[in-house]
Amino acid sequence: MSTGLDHNSWEQRSMQAVLPAFSDSVTLKSRGPLVLDHGEGIYVVDVHGKRYLDANSGLWNSVAGFNHPVLIEAGCRQFRRFPSYHSFFGRMSDVTIELCERLIAISPFESGRVFLTNSGSEANDTAVKMLWLLATHQSQPQRRKILTRINAYHGVTVAAASMTAKPYNTAFGLPLSDFIHVDCPHYWRYGTPDESEEAYSQRLAERLERVILAEDPSTIAGFFAEPVLGAGGVIPPPTGYFPAIQQVLRRYNIPLIADEVICGLGRTGVLWGSKRFDLDPDIIVASKCITAGYFPMGAVIVKAAVADALDAAIDEQEEFAHGFTSAGHPVGCAIALSAIDLIMTGGLLQNIQALSGQFEAGLAAFASNPHVGEVRTAGWMGALEIVADKETGEPFPAKFRVSEKIANTALDLGLICRPLGQAIVICPPFIMTAEEMHTMFSMLTDTLERVLHPLGELTSG
Ligand SMILES: *Cc1c(COP(=O)(O)O)cnc(C)c1O
Repeated sequence: MSTGLDHNSWEQRSMQAVLPAFSDSVTLKSRGPLVLDHGEGIYVVDVHGKRYLDANSGLWNSVAGFNHPVLIEAGCRQFRRFPSYHSFFGRMSDVTIELCERLIAISPFESGRVFLTNSGSEANDTAVKMLWLLATHQSQPQRRKILTRINAYHGVTVAAASMTAKPYNTAFGLPLSDFIHVDCPHYWRYGTPDESEEAYSQRLAERLERVILAEDPSTIAGFFAEPVLGAGGVIPPPTGYFPAIQQVLRRYNIPLIADEVICGLGRTGVLWGSKRFDLDPDIIVASKCITAGYFPMGAVIVKAAVADALDAAIDEQEEFAHGFTSAGHPVGCAIALSAIDLIMTGGLLQNIQALSGQFEAGLAAFASNPHVGEVRTAGWMGALEIVADKETGEPFPAKFRVSEKIANTALDLGLICRPLGQAIVICPPFIMTAEEMHTMFSMLTDTLERVLHPLGELTSG
């Protein structure tokens, strides 16, 4: 691929050798990828020595920054002790058990069991297979349909991509049948002018019930939801949403699966998004923060009643014919135990709580910008919805590539923040200090000034 990049550069070598994930090809061709050498706290440093404040915690996950000595030591210690084992055939490492015990202890469930995976996508696929196994075992083979919300992100494997209700999945011929997408609970965009948030939530619950009845309740295996839509652009639920939705689900005995891959372990300012937004799930899927990004890991945490039902189904089959070779990896489990300690008792969760006022105020300050349509926050996840017209909420025309422009200008200034549709997402590492947060917001102010000011003049002129 010709890019005008120096032939021997890392950037050009990357273009030659790597098929990149979710990367804008126009940006790649004009600028090349950002090739990193190492990290220092909340900063990453590229191969040319330039430093970037990573306001997105890597991909939401590097919550302890990029060189935390405690996590590195936990991994190294376990590498020396027992560097590899699987969890099949009734074998597993001792730390695997410790981690599962720990996840249950900190989960909202009084008791339960854990199935480990290598990623959030695998964890969601696993939860789907659990529901399908239960349906078969309970002589309800027709109970296969999975409900998720438009704009939800649940991952990229075939089932998880079918659950991810984003337009790009149609290019893969997805979703598979049996995956049904219901309303996205975004009040700012879809609420009617005369409707309160509560009334909007109630309307969505009624619409959900209509879908369930139209599909036939006995064919529905489960409803998956992120407490706060993450990759959908940080959309916290409108007031009363989950209680209203869950009342409908209970009426038809439909399990609720909370996809806590982003919210889990502190992101929303409490340990679980389910606690903050009134979800009472049957199964919790976690991943991104479990190892603070220092090892691939996902987890399906099922409450005791679900575990008991699974036991019965598994007894009939004589095994749960499901598992990933490297899941429950001893090094990942050792790092996870250490990361959970850091978050819960090592000051990370406390730091989020202490600075969440500053975070909210920092984002709220952008509300007066003529091109910020909505400011959304939940703990340390936030988004600015960029609009061409504040009155109508009209976005900039796609050809302006406004979110890519913002992300690229930010990079030039030494800030990593992510465009999601026309929203800018900010979700910093949990170790960020008050001073670093101040720096982050002033870099963001600078970025928006440089991009939006000239664009605004273009559209109004
Ligand atoms: C990232 C994400 C996933 C997928 O996790 P991977 O580890 O990338 O497979 C699933 N659900 C949510 C809510 C996510 O944000």
